[in-house]
Amino acid sequence: MEPLRVLIIGGGNAGISATVFEKDESTAARARDWSFGVYWAQSRIEECLTPELNLLLDTVQTDPSYRRHAESVLPVYHGVTGEILQPIPAPYAIRLKRRAFVDMIKKGLDVRYGKSLDTITVTEGGITAGFKDGTAENGTLLIGAEGAHSPTRAWLFQLSPEDAALQKVPVSSFGTVAKLTRETALSLRNIHPIYSMAVGPDNVFVFAAIHDCTAEAPEDWTFMLLITWNYDETEDHVRLANDRVFLLEKVEALTKSLVYPFNAMVQDVPPETRSWYSSQMTYWPTRPWDNRGGRVTVAGDAAHAMTFHRGQGLGNAVADVTELQTRLRAMKGHTRQELARAVGGYEKEVWKRGYDVVMENRENTLAVHDWENVLRSPLLVKGVARQGSLQGSPAQGGKE
Ligand SMILES: Cc1cc2nc3c(=O)[nH]c(=O)nc-3n(C[C@H](O)[C@H](O)[C@H](O)COP(=O)(O)OP(=O)(O)OC[C@H]3O[C@@H](n4cnc5c(N)ncnc54)[C@H](O)[C@@H]3O)c2cc1C
Repeated sequence: MEPLRVLIIGGGNAGISATVFEKDESTAARARDWSFGVYWAQSRIEECLTPELNLLLDTVQTDPSYRRHAESVLPVYHGVTGEILQPIPAPYAIRLKRRAFVDMIKKGLDVRYGKSLDTITVTEGGITAGFKDGTAENGTLLIGAEGAHSPTRAWLFQLSPEDAALQKVPVSSFGTVAKLTRETALSLRNIHPIYSMAVGPDNVFVFAAIHDCTAEAPEDWTFMLLITWNYDETEDHVRLANDRVFLLEKVEALTKSLVYPFNAMVQDVPPETRSWYSSQMTYWPTRPWDNRGGRVTVAGDAAHAMTFHRGQGLGNAVADVTELQTRLRAMKGHTRQELARAVGGYEKEVWKRGYDVVMENRENTLAVHDWENVLRSPLLVKGVARQGSLQGSPAQGGKE
């Protein structure tokens, strides 16, 4: 029986137990960090982690002292009047810091840094991944988990590159992780200990989440701010992408007419703070790929890149990991037929789930920037639950 060696490309959140090849030199190499809410995948994260790591999950929350509970909500406000539009039920939701979470889940894994995937070759005995540093690794199965811009997805669709291409949603986005003034920081925390959202007739969407509140002084806490608005082709998008101050001025103008504290957040951002801008958000509507006899597949954002307004990307990446690892572990032997069956079974599930969630999130992103339609958006109608399922469940260890 041939030993199963899984090569996972991309050391983000979708990795499973195998050798992971990450293009960055370390988890701290990227200046950009962000956070994500886990609304329904809590128990699936626990399925993937060892009991020791599960005990550490709360420590990588944006507020490590926060304890998940059944009544938790994600509040959505009317951005101009300040009235609450919807307290979206988010039972047992937690919010994790990406870098801290990745640092935690890599414990005990074989992660090779500085390994940027360059080529994929299917061989008689398996698969060879070639890296930009000139090295190569052989394996039985290659899982491309390199995020939305996945080179593995591009390789799978090499005969029809347009089928792998990211699609655009006509919505621009700004994001940053920044310190705010003491007053704004306290006001945001007063609204909700973790996060809040606002939408309004100006079709500007605002999301603010505590990113780190371990410092004693509120003015030293950091917040992740996401502001999105309808794309305008007459904008100077090149300048917005390259001139921090110009971008801040633009977003400040967009949020000026909002109710406090949503109108104060951007004004508070120190001009030297790093931020990111995308003229149009992107998504990839999952479509079936040929896994070359079960040798090559994709997972996470590589398999279903989606817009973030309903916070479903991480949950679906975790669902991929559990679906795939369950099938790999259930293989009766490490034969090509069994591998093809396991990978094919995973793909059958992910193709449908991925397509449905990507398209629903696209629809949602358009709706939350269209005041006439906001109340009919999946965010306000269905909330943050997984399609066709209940919300989150209590955590392990009796932590509720
Ligand atoms: C601002 C923001 C807020 C979000 N909020 C939420 C939320 O609240 N809830 C939620 O569920 N989801 C949320 N998401 C989505 C979530 O972050 C993603 O779905 C999730 O990170 C996907 O994980 P991944 O491992 O597939 O990809 P990534 O996290 O993108 O990781 C991919 C990794 O692959 C590496 N890589 C890339 N190319 C190569 C290569 N050629 N060779 C080797 N390695 C490579 C990258 O360096 C990276 O480390 C949010 C996303 C953003 C941007």
